[in-house]
Amino acid sequence: MSGFWGRLTTFIVIAAVTGIVWATLGAVTTLIICSVGLLLLVIHYRRHLIILDRWLQTEESTSVPLPDGSGKWGDVFARLARLMREQHKNHQQLSSALERLRRATSAMPEGVIILDEIDRIEWCNPVAEKHLGIDASLDAGQPITHLVRQTQFAEYLDAHNYNEPLIIKQSRNQGLILSLQFVPYGDKQKLLISRDVTRLERVHTMRRDFVANVSHELRTPLTVIGGFLETLSEDGGSDAGTTKLALSLMTDQTRRMQRLVEDLLTLSRLEDSENLVREDNINLSEMLRELSHEAKSLSTGRHRISLKLDTEAKLLGSMDDLRSAFSNLVSNAIRYTADGGNITLNWQIRDGQGVFSVQDSGIGIEPEHIPRLTERFYRVDRGRSRETGGTGLGLAIVKHVLTCHQAKLEIVSEPGKGSCFSAWFPAARLTTKTHKSK
Ligand code: ADP
Repeated sequence: MSGFWGRLTTFIVIAAVTGIVWATLGAVTTLIICSVGLLLLVIHYRRHLIILDRWLQTEESTSVPLPDGSGKWGDVFARLARLMREQHKNHQQLSSALERLRRATSAMPEGVIILDEIDRIEWCNPVAEKHLGIDASLDAGQPITHLVRQTQFAEYLDAHNYNEPLIIKQSRNQGLILSLQFVPYGDKQKLLISRDVTRLERVHTMRRDFVANVSHELRTPLTVIGGFLETLSEDGGSDAGTTKLALSLMTDQTRRMQRLVEDLLTLSRLEDSENLVREDNINLSEMLRELSHEAKSLSTGRHRISLKLDTEAKLLGSMDDLRSAFSNLVSNAIRYTADGGNITLNWQIRDGQGVFSVQDSGIGIEPEHIPRLTERFYRVDRGRSRETGGTGLGLAIVKHVLTCHQAKLEIVSEPGKGSCFSAWFPAARLTTKTHKSK
């Protein structure tokens, strides 16, 4: 109300002064005075507009001091400055909140992609860039289906059922298996979350293969035993010769299953990470002498078996596990070496490490098989392995035992000439590092 009365008073005063001037000096003079007054007013407004314009154009207008403005202009400038300060503060708060959000999503182990309402990329974090082979700055605005081209991805997107993730093999990044899941939010927008599930999928595949392999290994002896039992129950065991043969073959198959189950139990015990390695102080020379005797009785004189003990160093480790690993290497040498061949067991120090090796002059192994020999059930010659009573798990057990002892298995082989399997133990596992006194 005060503003209205103020304006009314000003209007009345101006009208009264104009009336008095008009009455005393005449109409022309009054018009001239009014025109001059209006001109001064226009100049006054223009000057303040120019000051305001210049101030607004300064880049950091919030930090530049407020320009002087007379009368109402001073109030306008002050109000404008206050508004700008508030706006600047809000902007800074928003920017720092955005920056915090960006840093948090960048630190996430999952890939995050923000998609707009027609599934174009708005933003993504570095993990998503790596997973999907995209570039956050170059690919912004691109439809996601242009960058993830698998048909099952397009179908998953169109189906609008995002309760379960989609597992895909990433073609751009070889061997990478991703789990992708859409999370709808806001107004038809979506987040695409990507997770690296390569290891998990590999474990699933290994488990599936393992179950299939074990079933396969058990099926053959079971079929044989089943067949003989059927024959025996049909002829009632009347033919003593057939019965004897059947029982002997069934015993063989039962032993085979027993060996398989024992090896499986050994593997599962070794894989149990809570199962700590025992630290026996093993007199390896003594153990190898025993192993050499056993090898001779297994070979039944078909091979020349020799033992070379170049060191008397003792080894810290699990006596039972190492014995079973070394015994596997020795029995393999016997099984894969033709009659009349040579087999040498050797314990020595090389480059400060303890090396146990079994050298044979057997059938040898083609180079392409060597990296896969320690996989469970991997055999170069399935028939020969079975004939000689192999389970296909021997070298897998050896590898596990050595890994538990921080040791490495080295395989050197030449087809037709022979193989050398060496177990390298770190110096820290040797207790007496002396060379044998000659
Ligand atoms: P298996 O019970 O079949 O012998 P292993 O795991 O002990 O299983 O060995 C895996 C495969 O490695 C064998 O099937 C065989 O083909 C090969 N192999 C192992 N030791 C020797 C060796 N000394 N000479 C030649 N081939 C070998």
